[in-house]
Amino acid sequence: MGQPVEDSDITVLCITGWCRNGSTILGNILNEVPGFFHVGELHFLWKNSAGRGANSLCGCGAVLAECPIWSQILPVGRPEGMSLAEYADIVIARQQGYARTRHTWRIMKRGIDTEGLRQHAQLMTDTYRAIAERTGARVLVDTTKIPGEAALLPRLEGIRPVFVHLVRDPVAVANSWRSPKDYVYTMSASKSTAYWRGFNIASRALLRRYPGQSMFLRYEDFIANPAATVADLLRRCGADPQDNPVNGQTVELHTNHTVTGNPDRFRTGATVIRPTDDSWKRGLPRRARLAAMLVSWPMSWRYGYRHPAGLLARPQPAVTAAAVASPAKSGLEDGSVGSGS
Ligand SMILES: [Zn+2]
Repeated sequence: MGQPVEDSDITVLCITGWCRNGSTILGNILNEVPGFFHVGELHFLWKNSAGRGANSLCGCGAVLAECPIWSQILPVGRPEGMSLAEYADIVIARQQGYARTRHTWRIMKRGIDTEGLRQHAQLMTDTYRAIAERTGARVLVDTTKIPGEAALLPRLEGIRPVFVHLVRDPVAVANSWRSPKDYVYTMSASKSTAYWRGFNIASRALLRRYPGQSMFLRYEDFIANPAATVADLLRRCGADPQDNPVNGQTVELHTNHTVTGNPDRFRTGATVIRPTDDSWKRGLPRRARLAAMLVSWPMSWRYGYRHPAGLLARPQPAVTAAAVASPAKSGLEDGSVGSGS
């Protein structure tokens, strides 16, 4: 929709939805495709580089401001003489003022109609261009997930968005938010599901607005057949299907340069994607399960997340890591993290 697609355009494969939906592992798999580059949650680049986010490390292990990629991208748009911290304040204020989930509909309807949003759009355009130039990639995978940022993409000159609305069972998501992990904080089932609802309503609105360049994906379908999911995404991005890095349930992961995401983003080597997600059965109290089901209804029902028997069942004891480990180096603890809008 909108501008015609040029050969020089950069494709931004934009994953929307609520945190812990598996976007980090999907992004890291796509990072293995020649010509693709997973930026992680780009929205948090400035905040995290200035030390104000949940973590300040790149997926490569370096501090963002010292990473060979991000150290070259961070000066983009920053006035001479202004410090990284001062500029981060300005960027964060614009993000909060114009590109939150609640702004999704306004951006879709009115486009860039304020000076603040225009400045934010210019920064995002220049940043995507600089990343493509620095890395040589023509497809940038952005797992920010905030629909307000995603809604801006069709308005950016030279950017061709491909939207992936990624949804995961809200009960499993609520369970994932229960336990702290590395730099990840915790959240109650009712709160995480309220966010789940808001982010997915806005993501669905985007999908309806741009049906020709959007894909709806359930996390459970992705892990059941990751090779087929990746093949579909490659086709949508005009990539060679021969370059699919997934073999059955296994993928060989190399170093990435992601801005935040699930702490598992630091893992490399042969990685097995577990085909089923029954994590919600382990440990999530019945009351929390009920809260997640009630707050997410009727969307969760429509997405096929119906487990009435599971709601009444007693939680199963937690399984040890060794018992669930996969034959290859690691079974992934799925999901994605970040600070939501
Ligand atoms: Zn890096």
